Amino acid sequence: MKRSSTKQIHVGDVAVGGDAPVSVQSMTTTKTADVDATLAQVYGLRGAGADIVRITCNDVEAAQGLAEIVPRSPVPIIADIHFQYRLALAALEAGVDGLRLNPGNIRKPAHIKAVAAAAADRGVPIRIGVNAGSLDKDLLDKYGSPVPQALVDSALAEVRLLEDAGFTDIKISVKHSHVPSMVESYRLLSAAVDHPLHLGVTEAGPPPAGLMKSVAGIATLLLEGIGDTIRFSLTADPVEEAEAGRRLLEQLGLRERTTLDLIACPSCGRAEVDVVAVATAAQEALESEGLPIQVAVMGCVVNGPGEAREADIGIAAGKGRGHLFIKGQVVRVVPEAEMVEALLDEARRLADEGVEARLAAADGVADELARETAAELLAAQGDINHSAEARSRVREVIEGE
Ligand code: SF4
Repeated sequence: MKRSSTKQIHVGDVAVGGDAPVSVQSMTTTKTADVDATLAQVYGLRGAGADIVRITCNDVEAAQGLAEIVPRSPVPIIADIHFQYRLALAALEAGVDGLRLNPGNIRKPAHIKAVAAAAADRGVPIRIGVNAGSLDKDLLDKYGSPVPQALVDSALAEVRLLEDAGFTDIKISVKHSHVPSMVESYRLLSAAVDHPLHLGVTEAGPPPAGLMKSVAGIATLLLEGIGDTIRFSLTADPVEEAEAGRRLLEQLGLRERTTLDLIACPSCGRAEVDVVAVATAAQEALESEGLPIQVAVMGCVVNGPGEAREADIGIAAGKGRGHLFIKGQVVRVVPEAEMVEALLDEARRLADEGVEARLAAADGVADELARETAAELLAAQGDINHSAEARSRVREVIEGE
C-alpha cells in the first residue's frame, strides 16, 4: 500500500517515518523507580513485538530509575511527561531516546522551548501527544467538545512552538477514544503536516472490545497509508498490547510474519469434526514450535483443501479421517483422532524439508481417497455450493424455458 510521505526521525536506533517500517510501541505499567520490575516488563514487551517502549517519568525517583533502565534496555525508551517540564529535562539527563509531551498540561511556551533546546542538544525527538481527554482548556472552550479539529489545532499550536524554537524532530499523536473521531483527527492531521504520526485509540479499555476499537481505528488509517508507529492502549497486561500491534502489522502485510498463522473455517452443518476443539488443540501444539507458517484447520474435506489452498499446510475432516494437505494437495490420510499429531509432525517436516520435498513424499493414494470421501459426502449431503438442480433452474430462467 502507498504510505503518506512523512519525514523520518530516529528514536534511538529505530527509524520512524519516511520509508521506515511501521513500528510497534507499548508502555510499562510498573513503578519506574522499581528498576528491575520495569526492565523485566520492557524485556517482555520486546519479546512480544514492541520496537519502542514508553515509561512514565512522573517524579524524581522515576527519572532516577530511568537513568538505570535506559542503558540496560533492549529497545529505545521514551519518557512520558505530564505537567512538569523539569521532569522532561531530568529524563533527558537520564539518557532517554525520546520524550512524549502532552500539550494539554505543559502549556508555558518558555517551558516547552527549554525542553526543545535540551532535546535538540541530545538529538532526542519529541512526540506531541494530544489526547481528547486532556485537551487544552482554551480549545475545549472554543469547540465545546474534543472534536477532531480541536485535537489537530492543539497539535499544530505545539508544532509551531517547537518549530519556532528551531526544533523539528517531531512526531505527533491525536488520540481519541471514539473511533470515528480518532480516524478523522488523524486524516486532518496527515493532510496538514509531514511529521511522522503515532496512531492509537486512547483508553480503548479491556479486550475484546478494546482490541476491536484499536484495530478499527489503527487499521483503517494504516490501510489509507496514514501512520508510522502504533500503540494499542488496552486495559490489560501491556504484553497483550505489543502482541496485538505486532499481529495487526503482520495481518496487514506491514511486518514479516514470524509466528504461526492459524486459519480455520468457522464450521457449519457440514463439519465432520468439532472444528473449535481441533483448531484450539492445533494452535496450542503448533504455537510452541514457533514456526512462521500458515496452517489451516477445516471442518470438511468437501470444501477444506480447496478453500485453504493458500495455506502452507492444513487438515480437513471427513468420515472419521483427517486429510492432511500441503498447498491444497492432500498428501496423507490419518485417523481422525490423530489429526493434530499428524499436523504437528508434517509442519515440522515442512519447515525442515520445504514444500517441494514434502509434496514429492506424498502418499500416492491420499488425494484420490480424499476425492472419494468428498464425493461420498456430497452424495449424502448435497452440494451446497453448486447444486445441479439449482443450476438447471437458473439456466431455465435465463433461456426463458
Ligand atoms: Fe463448513 Fe466444510 Fe466450509 Fe468448514 S470447510 S465451513 S465444515 S463447508
